[in-house]
Amino acid sequence: MAEQDYYDILGVSKDASEKDIKRAYRRLAAKYHPDVNHEPGAEEKFKKINEAYETLSDSQKRAQYDQFGSAGPQGAGGQGFGGFGGGQAYSNFGGGFDDIFSQFFGGGGRTRRDPTAPRQGRDLQYAMTLDFMDAVFGKTTTIKYDRDAECKTCHGTGAKPGKSPITCPRCHGVGVITSVRQTPLGNMQTQTTCPECNGTGKIIKPEDRCDTCHGAGHVHERHELEVKVPAGVDDGQQMRLQHQGDAGENGGPAGDLYIVFRVTPSREFRRDGSTIYVDRDISFAQAALGDEVKVKTVHGDVNLKIPAGTQSETNFRLRGKGVPHLNGNGNGDEHVTVHVKTPKSLNKRQREAMLAFAAASGEDVKGVKKTVLDKLRDAFEDK
Ligand code: ZN
Ligand code: ZN
Repeated sequence: MAEQDYYDILGVSKDASEKDIKRAYRRLAAKYHPDVNHEPGAEEKFKKINEAYETLSDSQKRAQYDQFGSAGPQGAGGQGFGGFGGGQAYSNFGGGFDDIFSQFFGGGGRTRRDPTAPRQGRDLQYAMTLDFMDAVFGKTTTIKYDRDAECKTCHGTGAKPGKSPITCPRCHGVGVITSVRQTPLGNMQTQTTCPECNGTGKIIKPEDRCDTCHGAGHVHERHELEVKVPAGVDDGQQMRLQHQGDAGENGGPAGDLYIVFRVTPSREFRRDGSTIYVDRDISFAQAALGDEVKVKTVHGDVNLKIPAGTQSETNFRLRGKGVPHLNGNGNGDEHVTVHVKTPKSLNKRQREAMLAFAAASGEDVKGVKKTVLDKLRDAFEDK
């Protein structure tokens, strides 16, 4: 069958203006739309009208058509669409159609989301459990998670290499099914998203579907990603990794991956932001006489000077011995609380020394009766 001339289909001259073409298209589309016109051959005619309009309404395609005919300079397909993704002309067309229809039926010009527009993929979340020290100093680790990735065989089109999606036969590329009802108030139209193409206006023939993704354009994959956890992250904080989520639609960017940190507590350190808190027991003698004691910090043990006469529950600050600030600007501090421990039991020598100490302090300490355990211990010590 000889290819019918697009100008003839729309009934316009070769030098018709854009306006003339649009007017002719509106008139013919309204006449032959398959939801309205049930005559045999109307659907075929409607398709031709759309095909003609799609080319002639686009100045670039029209110029190409005038020069090369409907197949275009590549001589391929004759589909009119420059392959999937080159769908910009198509979405312009879709918009034009909506606008035309709302005029035909006096509808409210309802806008629907364009299913062919590029859309960012879904964001994903990954819970990462960190050891206390890894959260303090950061680490580089490889994570594995499931995501939808663009199919590498078809680059997201869902079609076999060399094949392209075709105009949906159910909705004729419109993406919606319009039904018209006669009511006493006039014609009522209802529009539903085309179930065949999910509103995209295009389908891939089953035999043309990409073997890798079976037409989805996406493949489910186990993705490995090296993650640099910065020093100083804290429990409940999250980090966003751009474009590591699910693949986008219609050439849109991938979503993001949010890593949510769960930090396991430490037996030795309490942490509040960049500040570390530790407890350190000291003896009565150390508190009274003063001493230098080893204190644990996340950066290793350090010596802490206990001044003579230190009271229990005194706090000391070790500057810069806390958690690195997330912005990389130095460290927080460590706070050390000392607890003066009273001996739970005294041996004979300790007891005598303590009584002597009390006497030297002018105290008259009587003490209490020794327990059986104290006596036993004394017996051993005296040996
Ligand atoms: Zn459809
Ligand atoms: Zn594929």
